[in-house]
Amino acid sequence: MALSKFVDIPSNAKNIKILNYIGGKHVPPVSGQYLQSYNPATGDKLTMVPDSSKIDIDNAVFAAKKAFPAWSTTSIAERAAILNQVADLIEQNMYQLGRLESQDQGKPVAAAVSFDIPNCADKFRKFAKLILDGFNEVSLTMETTATKNSISKKEMATVTAVTQHIPAGVAGLISPWNMPLQMACSKIAPCIAVGNTCVVKPTEITSVTAFVLTQILEAAGVPPGVVNIVFGTGINAGEALVKHKDVRLISFTGGSLTGSRIGAIAGGLYKRVALELGGKGPSVVFKDCDIEHTITTNVRAAYQNQGELCLCASRQYVQQDIYDEYLQKFRQKTLSEVVVGNPADSKTFYGPMVSKQHMEKVLSYIRLAQEEGATVEFLVNPDAEHTNLSSDGRLTIKGFEGGYYIAPTLITNVKQSSRLVQEEIFGPVVCVMPFQTEDEAVKLANDTQYGLTASVWTLDKEKLLRVMKQINAGSVWGNGWLIIGSDMPFGGMGCSGTTREGGKWCLDFYTETKALYYPEI
Ligand code: NAD
Repeated sequence: MALSKFVDIPSNAKNIKILNYIGGKHVPPVSGQYLQSYNPATGDKLTMVPDSSKIDIDNAVFAAKKAFPAWSTTSIAERAAILNQVADLIEQNMYQLGRLESQDQGKPVAAAVSFDIPNCADKFRKFAKLILDGFNEVSLTMETTATKNSISKKEMATVTAVTQHIPAGVAGLISPWNMPLQMACSKIAPCIAVGNTCVVKPTEITSVTAFVLTQILEAAGVPPGVVNIVFGTGINAGEALVKHKDVRLISFTGGSLTGSRIGAIAGGLYKRVALELGGKGPSVVFKDCDIEHTITTNVRAAYQNQGELCLCASRQYVQQDIYDEYLQKFRQKTLSEVVVGNPADSKTFYGPMVSKQHMEKVLSYIRLAQEEGATVEFLVNPDAEHTNLSSDGRLTIKGFEGGYYIAPTLITNVKQSSRLVQEEIFGPVVCVMPFQTEDEAVKLANDTQYGLTASVWTLDKEKLLRVMKQINAGSVWGNGWLIIGSDMPFGGMGCSGTTREGGKWCLDFYTETKALYYPEI
């Protein structure tokens, strides 16, 4: 294996011209049409994104199909070595990638460099290891009752049973904007590790780092056509990918409504579909919790990544006995630690909303809370350089007046049936509500259509496990938040999704699983 090449990554997304990556070549969209992208911190124009359509998808699927026979038969050792090269190059360019992610998405550079980008490298490394560990064939010997017709010699026979996983073919991978590169890598890595080829459709809102990834894939030695990336909107490029007859499986992460549409289309075409969708994470806080630890974590869980995380604790239920104390400490902690502002500043806890359109959506929920008569508090750090806080929570930051900032928002006196509690807001807005009994807390936690993540806080271990087991969510944390084991399943129930990512669960999805049986000869 040749040593990986140096990858020259610009420090400013403005200097990047995004092109599609098809069959190992950077090409413009056939229509010549582009979309404008913006820097959310300033509202300034950032770069142009190809507005690709069906013909670009057709070309990319053709390239992926052509690359499949060679890639799917490339040895596991060679595929793993290439994946490890990708991981090395991501790590070598951690800071550059983090800075670009921040310019495009709005998240603090520090968060991108310490969380998003390392996780991208980790995905390639983990799946390289998983295939080397030999996931693809599991052999066991079993006693089976066989009729004379099926096995000629004996009635009872010992047969060897083998589970074989084979690559499924060309995959369509569709990703969202809140963790742009991380979400794309969490699909590409397992998909190509097992020998599939793919067409990736990143979100049109944050396309920069997926484009830079094409340089890394090329330098790492990923053969042309194994990973193709087509940029553009969901309705034009995304849906053409979902409908393409040569795409055998679709892995989608995004909003629940989009997922429902994609699931219906892909299911109708007999494709395998993985849906990783929205969340409205409950946090259940009992009076016997470690309150300082709970508050520290739950403030982060409410506002991290601007609240643009599917696993945020956006509904917090607190036992009545400590409700007032909790609110007081929650306010203090937020006021002292949650600094909103320039994402390039190391003091910043969270930056702007990803887009003007998304900011308007979040502000509309805050206005709804005010109309419903809920108590709405904006917890703005007194030292923050905001120049203006508007009545609906929009913040204007000195020097970044065109940016899309919203104040950390705390909502109380809100009904469980309100849309504020039932719907995913996906911004720095948290509802904190009281409960009396354990049964009531479980009922409230389970009372939305979502079921992605949850947390429970108590120092009573029996109660902790009892409640954790009753909450309908794909991941439930006891006295913690955002703990994700890479060999553990991750995914949701209800309108949070249908499948599980992570470790072997992912590999099951990305392969066709066969059962082979044969008696002793
Ligand atoms: P979105 O559904 O608007 O878009 C996601 C992707 O789907 C984008 O690439 C978009 O272009 C594409 N798309 C849109 N319509 C399409 C269509 N008809 N056919 C094919 N593709 C289409 O979601 P978003 O606003 O980008 O992302 C935010 C959402 O993602 C939130 O709901 C969040 O909770 C969810 N999310 C979930 C997870 C998880 O692991 N469960 C992780 C991150 C984000």
